[in-house]
Amino acid sequence: MDIIDKLKKAEEVIWYNPNYAEFSRVRDELPISLEEVREAENRLKRFAPYIKKVFPEVADGIIESPINSIDKMKGRMERDLNKEIPGRLLVKRDDLLPIAGSIKARGGIYEVLKHAETLAIQNGLLKYDEDYRILASEEFRDFFSKYTIQVGSTGNLGLSIGIMSAKVGFKVIVHMSQDAKEWKKNLLRSKGVQVVEYTSDYSKAVEEGRRLSNEDPKSHFIDDENSKDLFLGYAVGGMRVKKQLEDMGIIVDQEHPLFVYLPCGVGGGPGGVAYGLKLVYGDNVKCFFAEPTRSPAMLLGLVTGLHDKISVEDIGLDNKTDADGLAVGRPSSFVGKIMDKILTGAFTIEDYRLYDFLNELYEEEKIFLEPSALAGFLGPIFTSEKYKDSNIIHMCWATGGSLVPEEIVNDLLMK
Ligand SMILES: *Cc1c(COP(=O)(O)O)cnc(C)c1O
Repeated sequence: MDIIDKLKKAEEVIWYNPNYAEFSRVRDELPISLEEVREAENRLKRFAPYIKKVFPEVADGIIESPINSIDKMKGRMERDLNKEIPGRLLVKRDDLLPIAGSIKARGGIYEVLKHAETLAIQNGLLKYDEDYRILASEEFRDFFSKYTIQVGSTGNLGLSIGIMSAKVGFKVIVHMSQDAKEWKKNLLRSKGVQVVEYTSDYSKAVEEGRRLSNEDPKSHFIDDENSKDLFLGYAVGGMRVKKQLEDMGIIVDQEHPLFVYLPCGVGGGPGGVAYGLKLVYGDNVKCFFAEPTRSPAMLLGLVTGLHDKISVEDIGLDNKTDADGLAVGRPSSFVGKIMDKILTGAFTIEDYRLYDFLNELYEEEKIFLEPSALAGFLGPIFTSEKYKDSNIIHMCWATGGSLVPEEIVNDLLMK
């Protein structure tokens, strides 16, 4: 297989999914329904007054990010890479998501809140139609302090879950892989989160966290490899894009397709968002996953059909990348199986380009992103070789960056 050879050599490659099928034919076979995503959205609405109370910076209590048009960046990419990109270029600013500063503010916060709601309701302390601001009271914080939340993470999921859980009042333990940046661990410790460090990769941190959590009946493990709730939190974000684009006067239809490029680690974030987008746009949206050349876990799982039964190490790659959020060697099979027929394609990108895009985006648009969040920017370059229609709307999903401390921002801009 040609593509596997290229992956082995850590070459950049784009893959178009031969299993893609019309969305209307496959949606009923998928293990997540539109109703479940709507339910998740309603849950987030119930929590909005609480969020607003405990995080006053979230003005309406709804955790959402803007979409920007980035014409100058488009021009810069066309000049620097000597390729035309027909159509327009947008960026989805999940780097600006409040509380956690990354796409993890969608799934992670959703699952923590759902768990808190479930416990409060099961114990007769809360009703669905009550004002959820009572959850911020001392009485509730005492109640939640008897319970623990644990999670394994390369960094950002730990940040999102750690910050939200600590606010709710849960005990929280974050199992961090070796890739996790020091500042992310320090930030969590400053919020009273227990951080356990591993000298191994992400899969091992998840495995250990899951094992330790299972030993404690009052502990809930947020399972990045298998969690339906994380996936639903991300899917809400995908669905909300439609209204946001309409408000910008952008209509997506057969003549004006939307191409979305999503940085992918274990798959939950990009998978959930892609699923939400498919629910509102069907075949008029084409979703692509972006991974580092040395960590193409999801692409390898999809191409071989082996999902979590194969890792990038199995084909001789070292899973070393500066894109810490994407440093995953083995994908989620739960997500891979959902993506099998709805993902249009996936591609890989070399680390040096992440820094090129990081600097270009900063120079042209004054937008700073963390390295992982730039992986999608090679997408429009790749797809424009095949799709030349000037009606295409390209959207790069910027997955994180606003929490990066200033001295590290300066370091990254020098690279
Ligand atoms: C986690 C993360 C991703 C990928 O999400 P997965 O659910 O791991 O696939 C992409 N970008 C950033 C910045 C992240 O933190």
